[in-house]
Amino acid sequence: MERFTGNFTQQEPIPDAGIEAALAVLRHGRLHRYNTAAGEVAETALLEEEFAAFLGARYCLAVASGGYAMATALRAMQVGQGDKVLTNAFTLAPVPGAIASVGAQPVFIETTEDLTIDVAHLEEMALQTGAKVLMLSHMRGHLADMPALVALCDRLGLRIIEDCAHTMGAAWDGVPSGRFGAIACFSNQTYKHMNAGEGGFLTTDDPDLAARSVLLSGSYMLYARHRAAPPPEVFERIRLDIPNISGRMDNLRAAILRPQIALLPDRRQRWNALYQTMEAGLAHTPGLRLIPRPAQETYVASSFQFSLPGWGADRVRAFVARAAGRGVELKWFGAPDPVAFTSRYEHWHYAAPRPLPQTDRVLAGLIDMRLPLTFGLEDVAQIARIIRSEVISVGQADDLRVEAVPLAD
Ligand SMILES: *Cc1c(COP(=O)(O)O)cnc(C)c1O
Repeated sequence: MERFTGNFTQQEPIPDAGIEAALAVLRHGRLHRYNTAAGEVAETALLEEEFAAFLGARYCLAVASGGYAMATALRAMQVGQGDKVLTNAFTLAPVPGAIASVGAQPVFIETTEDLTIDVAHLEEMALQTGAKVLMLSHMRGHLADMPALVALCDRLGLRIIEDCAHTMGAAWDGVPSGRFGAIACFSNQTYKHMNAGEGGFLTTDDPDLAARSVLLSGSYMLYARHRAAPPPEVFERIRLDIPNISGRMDNLRAAILRPQIALLPDRRQRWNALYQTMEAGLAHTPGLRLIPRPAQETYVASSFQFSLPGWGADRVRAFVARAAGRGVELKWFGAPDPVAFTSRYEHWHYAAPRPLPQTDRVLAGLIDMRLPLTFGLEDVAQIARIIRSEVISVGQADDLRVEAVPLAD
């Protein structure tokens, strides 16, 4: 019985240019973004300028994490105590966490089978709550029909903050993800599309939101050192009214990230080759549903999802255990307890979530795995063979007690 021996959490090394640039920052010692020599432009300011150009946004602010970018976006929009913020029920913990961090209340929206936000439920909840903001999480890189969603939000008076943690480099009909909302937030945490360990970006075209965000992030009165930011007069109007809630990025992380921007198209192509190999390997597996990808969507498949519709919890648990025994590390969004990076909306008790039967049904059979770029096409083909054989055998088994899988050595 074949067994996979690769590591699902091993990312690629930082490119040599990033290592060299990081060493240069360490050698000169000016790690703080506002600590510059005469005539020097900080790595952080250059990174912001380059990422804004890559995305086609007017303004970009580099910060400490994706979650910090989202909280800053909410504060910049003056969302505060007791306000309701609509967001996807299928998302990662930092998203409701960012909403709670400003004293606001997350209101979770149902998930479709294709893992995007349910627009009918969104409309219902917008009308019911009077919410003014949608924190739209493109969870696991699945994009909703963006022009239709933007039109609906305009009609409902909802401003959109896009959570692009899984869609850096993705697009809908050629328009980059992050160009649809008033603000977009990105993460540079290790498992995202550019790796600095931790970090994030906030992008916008709105000068007032950009200036507020820069001031919020802790710019002291050095905002004029930002290059992807509005001119000083925009800051002068508000600079004494905005609290400093420090969450800046430093020059070391910026140095590591700058050379990775140009690598994004190549990474997208390699991730998608892994994804398509997995998709082909799992196609027509009885009991397994692949998630369809719309033709308008340009995705960046750093992870892979499939579902086992209608399977009971015991059967899914047996399948995940059997796959693990053969070296295939899968995550299950139906697990009753939060495990590592996998959690469900009802685990976020502080948000007092209401039951969402459609999302429960979708998550009950939803399986997820990382596709690190250290995998080759052969690795992914082998993983697909293992999953396929276990879905077929566990799917047909009468006895769900998990037998030990003999290890290779
Ligand atoms: C990673 C992630 C974020 C941001 O996470 P940070 O760890 O704060 O950078 C936001 N949303 C989703 C869906 C994520 O996966």
